[in-house]
Amino acid sequence: MIAQEPKTVVVQKFGGASVATPEKMKEVARRVVEEKKAGRDVIVVISAMGDTTDRLLTLAKTVNANPPKRELDMLLTAGERISMALLSMAISDLGYEAISFTGSQSGIVTDTSHTRATILDVRAYRVREELEKGRIVIVAGFQGVSPAKEITTLGRGGSDTTCVALAAAFSARECHLFKDVDGIYTADPRIVPWASRIDKVSYEEMMELAFCGAGVLHWRSVDVAMRLGVRVQVRPSFGKEMGTVVTSREEIEAVAVRGITQDTNLARVSFKEVGLPAEAAGRVLEALDHADIEVRFLHISACPRSLGTVSVMIPADAADAARSCLAGALPGEAFTVDEDVATVSVVGHGLTGVPGISRKVLGSLASLAIDPDVVSSSGLSLTIVLPKSRVTEAVRKLHIDLGLGEPTTDTAR
Ligand code: ASP
Ligand code: MG
Repeated sequence: MIAQEPKTVVVQKFGGASVATPEKMKEVARRVVEEKKAGRDVIVVISAMGDTTDRLLTLAKTVNANPPKRELDMLLTAGERISMALLSMAISDLGYEAISFTGSQSGIVTDTSHTRATILDVRAYRVREELEKGRIVIVAGFQGVSPAKEITTLGRGGSDTTCVALAAAFSARECHLFKDVDGIYTADPRIVPWASRIDKVSYEEMMELAFCGAGVLHWRSVDVAMRLGVRVQVRPSFGKEMGTVVTSREEIEAVAVRGITQDTNLARVSFKEVGLPAEAAGRVLEALDHADIEVRFLHISACPRSLGTVSVMIPADAADAARSCLAGALPGEAFTVDEDVATVSVVGHGLTGVPGISRKVLGSLASLAIDPDVVSSSGLSLTIVLPKSRVTEAVRKLHIDLGLGEPTTDTAR
């Protein structure tokens, strides 16, 4: 007997905007059924409808300004639970069999860091069994369960990571992340209307873009995709375009600069006139760590002219928490928490060892009379710290000067 080719498994994720209303939910159900009709096994990872997660967060804060993280996870995971059940119902209304599972039922095992857990293992036995029965399996994104059987979440935007981890577990040939945008762009099109869609981007570049603020993908999902070799397609929810493929470097045409991104969702803690800067940084980091505040970027300088001898970038929404934790932990020390701060990053493999690009970037900023507070480079990116109010002009100018594209007559407004 000839062994049967295993069926192709397709893993698809639909984001919150794609399922914001019952009508959109039904549209997603139709898309999923199309895949099934084409003879594939389908796993669908789903996010909470529209702004449900934001609303749940606000709700939590109305009863407790600083809600315990375990309980926050219990609350937030309810959003995806609503979507998964509704999508399953909508699919069954189209005459197809579907079953929904929570992260825990799907075997998404994570560590215990509530609100930003890491996936440790995928034990998707039940998902596999149901696929074998011919059912479409719907999995709640963004959630998992710790070995202590506590419910966890993976951080905002975490359903991308659920999708990639499942695709890896099933050696899926295709992993589609359906979004409310049609792919990854050379810059945020809201800032640079003439930015262009990137057909293919390497894992490394995408991770850097995501980490430096490109909101389209959860950076951890890219990390998982790179480690486990999953080729990811970012596609529009309602449209037929192929979007952007995130894949290994070998598959991609090399360019010097792939894109520019900004992060305006930051605050900066700075310390001036500390004794030994590294020692002071240690104290600050310890206090922030204690308060469970994420550190995005750390800058230590022995240069007395710099704004803060020690500066630490944290998420903007942690600014108040940082103020109170530092006041408590380091009484009498002169720190400031500044919210008028942002980063702009230039990303591409060509930044490795090409001084010309850094020079161009600094030249462009100088021509706008922007004097960056900090410039830091890694092999793959150059990040500039500047005031929030200068971000738009900086990104536009760099997009033009680095050859990523100039405004055409119909985009120049
Ligand atoms: N619903 C969660 C969020 O809004 C997870 C996700 O959308 O991926 O962050
Ligand atoms: Mg969401």
